[in-house]
Amino acid sequence: MRPISYARATEVVDAIATVLADPESAYLAGGTTEIDLLRLDVVRPTALVDINDLPLDQIQELADGGLRIGALARMSDVAEDPAVALRFPMIAQALLLGASPQLRHMASMGGNLLQRVRCSYFRDGVSPCNKRSPGTGCSALQGINRGHAILGTSEHCIATHPSDVAVALVALDASVHIEGPSGARAIPISDFFLLPGETPHLEHPLEHGDLIVGIEVPSSTVARTSLYLKVRDRESYEFALASAAVALRVEGGVIADVRLALGGIATRPWRAHRAEQLLMGARAEQAAFASAARAELADAIPRGMNAFKVELAQRTIVRALETAADMRGAT
Ligand SMILES: Cc1cc2nc3c(=O)[nH]c(=O)nc-3n(C[C@H](O)[C@H](O)[C@H](O)COP(=O)(O)OP(=O)(O)OC[C@H]3O[C@@H](n4cnc5c(N)ncnc54)[C@H](O)[C@@H]3O)c2cc1C
Ligand code: SF4
Repeated sequence: MRPISYARATEVVDAIATVLADPESAYLAGGTTEIDLLRLDVVRPTALVDINDLPLDQIQELADGGLRIGALARMSDVAEDPAVALRFPMIAQALLLGASPQLRHMASMGGNLLQRVRCSYFRDGVSPCNKRSPGTGCSALQGINRGHAILGTSEHCIATHPSDVAVALVALDASVHIEGPSGARAIPISDFFLLPGETPHLEHPLEHGDLIVGIEVPSSTVARTSLYLKVRDRESYEFALASAAVALRVEGGVIADVRLALGGIATRPWRAHRAEQLLMGARAEQAAFASAARAELADAIPRGMNAFKVELAQRTIVRALETAADMRGAT
């Protein structure tokens, strides 16, 4: 392993300038992704710029009912924040169902959005993998692909996006706030995670030096009655096989507002627009939930070992919607 230089920044501008000075450098937050991949020789930065002293760990309620989460707020602090638990339960639940308590204390919200895929071919550092080494091929297409994606895939990559909280943030139309060489800007989260297409090595629209400074979640009444359902092989310390972030408002037995996003089955946190359109105005009952779930999965492309996810995802959607409807006492 080649030597890596280390610097600790206390000002945002200094952190950005230090990373910009070296095209091979990277930011270091909790290190729960970066250090793992460094040890596996999957990433090879020449310099790490530690950003943990930057003043970016606040969780603020906005006057209009929205939320501003600093990029360095830890997953555990966000999950336990009373405003998050009350106004955006799907965010708190998605965080608490991720990783382990120790990891959640270390892991930052900005780092969570930028965590890398769990595909074993990507992480072994040697197998053909278009994401790690563009143009080498995708070992998962014909390989062990039980955990891989069935939506948003391409012939070049089928890796599942691993984040739980990103699924809730996509359902809630959050935005990611950036500072960097092009100044300050906000990117709607719907544009933040790129589909693999022919360029699976490009995962987001950030330039080298761009620093995530925060995440903003707009005010949402429907978010108060929301939940995150995660289905996985074991009850803790495991990534999703399928998950659903759901917020539902029912009036007179009819769906008046709905947000639905899916995890564990797609190459990016998946907003279920098609299902949402079918659900709006429908009766809040099992038949409508099942029909919306079927429509959302209609374009799924299963590959060998992950074919079970087509049915599992539909069942996850239906169960999440039924639970959300029960919370309202609607059915
Ligand atoms: C065993 C294990 C189980 C896990 N289970 C789950 C799970 O069930 N659900 C889930 O959602 N996640 C899970 N994770 C992933 C975990 O949530 C992420 O590793 C973590 O959130 C990353 O945050 P970090 O602060 O440690 O980031 P780091 O490792 O420090 O950084 C990750 C990447 O983001 C970059 N970066 C970090 N912060 C910024 C910033 N502010 N601006 C720009 N770039 C930045 C770094 O350069 C690096 O490329 C698991 C991880 C492990 C190791
Ligand atoms: S699925 Fe993506 S990450 Fe996994 S081997 Fe194929 S190209 Fe690499």
